[in-house]
Order: sequence, then structure tokens, then C-alpha cells
Amino acid sequence: MSRQLGDSHRRFLQNMMTLGITNEQEAKALYQNCCETHKTQCAPDKLDEFIDAINSRLQPMFMQIRKGMSEENGHQYYALVNMAETDITRMTSDYADNELELFRKAMDLIVSSENGKVSSTDILNCTDTMTSKSLKKSETQHLLTRLVQEKWLCERRGEYTLSTRCIIEMEPYIRAMYQDQVKVCHICHNIAFQCQICENPLCGIKIHNPCVARYFKGRTDPHCPACDDFWPHEIPEVRGLRSQSKR
Ligand SMILES: [Zn+2]
Ligand SMILES: [Zn+2]
Repeated sequence: MSRQLGDSHRRFLQNMMTLGITNEQEAKALYQNCCETHKTQCAPDKLDEFIDAINSRLQPMFMQIRKGMSEENGHQYYALVNMAETDITRMTSDYADNELELFRKAMDLIVSSENGKVSSTDILNCTDTMTSKSLKKSETQHLLTRLVQEKWLCERRGEYTLSTRCIIEMEPYIRAMYQDQVKVCHICHNIAFQCQICENPLCGIKIHNPCVARYFKGRTDPHCPACDDFWPHEIPEVRGLRSQSKR
């Protein structure tokens, strides 16, 4: 049974349609704002229930507000996703065929890389093997800028990663398409791209960088949580505000 939606739910959804993706803190502020505007009750810990009510009405339209973690900072995000088209074809109204082919190639490289990153040079080199109309260097650079602006990719120092929005929205597609290559994080069990890997060849578990930071925080002699081998990687600092999972 779908629950009744009020004006506060509608306002929240309208904002999500504009934003596409928002972090947990902003989502909580938006929830509070929507409830205050429409004078409805607002309990700070009821955001997920509030969103569930919206989702029950979105389901017939194959849409959903889905929660996921940022591989950059470990924070939770909410994204409005389209469940009708579960792959890259959803982007066909915004991108040309050859642009989508290049995006797919970039995704192949990111998924098959060890740390979830690909350099712009490697993406530019992909244009040589395109089956659709090849993109010029300037067109490729322009496309990459657009993919970053439209929140499909992130860029830092010439290296590209899948954005949080892309991972939340395309996770079912990525899991189906790259069955043999994708691994989940040993700590949070979400799909893992930007991560550290256990160097024991018989183990090889992956842990997201923010999950590494939290898991090994304060441990001077880190060992793999699966095989107990020494964890040789540099342990990143816990970044940003976090209230959950602190020990
Ligand atoms: Zn994780
Ligand atoms: Zn291990």
C-alpha cells in the first residue's frame, strides 16, 4: 500500500529532481525545511522513513531516491535514480553514440584498474579503437568536462573516477556488466573502485579508502581483516565529519 504524500514530500521530491544528488547533511536540512514550510512534524531521525514514503509513490514511475556512499569521503548521499533504464542507454537523450562509446570505454578502464582511476591520456588513447565516429582530442576533452559537470565522472589532477551519482545509479548495471571484475568492500559491502587491496594473492580483498581510514584508525600494526596478513598501505586520515561507526 502506498502511503499518502503531503506537500512536504512533494517539495522534497521537487528539490531532488533539481539537485539529482545531495549529501546526507543537505538532505536532512532540506527535509527540515520542507516540514517547516508546510508545518508538518519533522523528526531528525525519520529522514529515511520520509524518503521511503516518497519512494512508494515513485515506484510505478520506475524512479527511486537511493542512498549510497561516496568513495571520496565516506559520507552518505541520496540520489534520485531512474530504474527503468538500468544502463548507459539512459544517457542517450543527452549524449551522442560516439560520446557514449567513449564513456563506456572510460568505465571499462576504471572498473579494470586497481584503484578505480583512469588518466585523461588513457581515455584519449581510446579514441583510436572506437567503432563509431572517432572523437577528436578537443572533442574528447570537452566531453570529459561535460561528464564531470553532469556528475557522471569526477576529476582530480588529470585522473578520472566514477562519481558517487554514477555508482549509486549504475550499480546494478556495473554488477551485471562486469561480474568478474567488480568486488565489494570487505567492510561496508558496497561495490568498491577507489580502494586499497590486500597484497596476499590468495586473499586480495578490497577496502574503500574511507573504510580503511575508519577500520584501521588508531591501530599501529594493521592486519588484513580477512587473512590477517600485514596491511602494507598508508592508512588515510578520517576526513570530514563523521558520527557513525566510530569506536
Ligand atoms: Zn567500504
Ligand atoms: Zn588479506
